Amino acid sequence: MLKIDHHVCNLCGLCQKSCPFGAISAGEEKVTVDERCTLCGACVNVCPQSALSIERRQASPEELAQYRGVFVWTECEERGKKQVPRKVVYELLTHGRRLADRLGQPLAAIALGDSRMEDLDRLCHQGADRVICCRHDLLGSYSTDGFTTALAAVVAKEKPSVLLFGATPNGRDLAPRVAARLRFGLTADCTGLDIDDQNQLVQTRPAFGGNIMASIISPYTRPQAATVRPNVFVASAPDPSRPAVIEEFPVTLSKASIRTKVVETIATGGEAEKIEEARVIVSAGRGCGEPSHLELVRSLAHRLGGAMAGSRAIVELGWIPHTIQVGQSGTTVGPDLYIAVGISGAVQHIVGMSSSKKIIAINKDPDAPIFKIADLGVVGDALHILPKLLDALKA
Ligand SMILES: Cc1cc2nc3c(=O)[nH]c(=O)nc-3n(C[C@H](O)[C@H](O)[C@H](O)COP(=O)(O)OP(=O)(O)OC[C@H]3O[C@@H](n4cnc5c(N)ncnc54)[C@H](O)[C@@H]3O)c2cc1C
Repeated sequence: MLKIDHHVCNLCGLCQKSCPFGAISAGEEKVTVDERCTLCGACVNVCPQSALSIERRQASPEELAQYRGVFVWTECEERGKKQVPRKVVYELLTHGRRLADRLGQPLAAIALGDSRMEDLDRLCHQGADRVICCRHDLLGSYSTDGFTTALAAVVAKEKPSVLLFGATPNGRDLAPRVAARLRFGLTADCTGLDIDDQNQLVQTRPAFGGNIMASIISPYTRPQAATVRPNVFVASAPDPSRPAVIEEFPVTLSKASIRTKVVETIATGGEAEKIEEARVIVSAGRGCGEPSHLELVRSLAHRLGGAMAGSRAIVELGWIPHTIQVGQSGTTVGPDLYIAVGISGAVQHIVGMSSSKKIIAINKDPDAPIFKIADLGVVGDALHILPKLLDALKA
């Protein structure tokens, strides 16, 4: 809550000017704040009289101790007539298992969907001790309102200590809604998660345009929530001997409370969708020389049944869209095979592809940093090597 000390305030109006949400009015007699205030603190920082302060509610250690367990939101995707968990869910469960073991607490998956949801046993095979399953006709396709209500109901009742989401478009939409509704903290777009010696979740993410990695903790609220980029963690092989424990969680939803409806689903079919889950990626860098040479890279990608991607340098040159940029300020990928063509191997590129199972680099500079992480390095001119490789594959 924003507190205003009216005895100290001199009605200078700087707070009103600084408020990005238009929540503050400096009248002739006093300053008032309305419900648009998000407690961002901008006004507190500019007040020359120190008349403004924010009182944040901090849970006591006893309250925090009531929260237990690592929970993962199971985002499902349509596959044929079924709804099945997305790959990022298995990645989060694999790492969630490690976090839960460090804490000595259980790991749970929360699945929201309709009667078409399948493959929930696999969530337990992947490490979950149990699956909390909400089935409702109104959860058949993603809606912010419906999924927020259902997930908030589960979290309010179950009180997890840690809550993880994939940083997918829907995960990035849902996590802040639930966090705002239940008033807990959230770290977006994490690239690492660990437990410190006080059993707190340490959430790592790039900050200040990627120039530093910030380690963030949430000491005052629970659950400690984070969205995590797909392909940051590698999913382990499922263990079918783990018992599947699936519990139904009834939710009450009404059509009137869901303000959006899916009218039509249009597949974009672009390369952007493919790179996150592609098993083979052929990625181009500035060393490819000019945009017309990218046809060689695209042909190789298609011949190998994969997708084409690229470095930020060629996005900035306008050769490819940002949607297929790999790296810290692009997409994180983790294919079985990553072929880097004319890419130097800057650290910001490497963080986005180093979890690839096999990396092949083609670069004419034998000292290019990309060779330090490549399983196979080919020193030479990509424009001579790629046509030969394509011919060999055709043959
Ligand atoms: C905050 C921040 C975020 C960033 N985020 C990203 C990101 O998400 N993704 C990203 O990629 N970058 C990112 N960058 C940029 C990054 O630092 C590099 O500048 C960029 O990755 C370089 O791209 P490149 O390797 O294609 O080009 P260059 O560094 O110019 O390398 C070109 C390479 O091609 C080789 N070469 C030249 N000709 C040939 C040839 N004929 N055959 C074979 N090899 C050849 C050269 O030897 C060289 O190694 C970021 C930078 C900052 C500061």
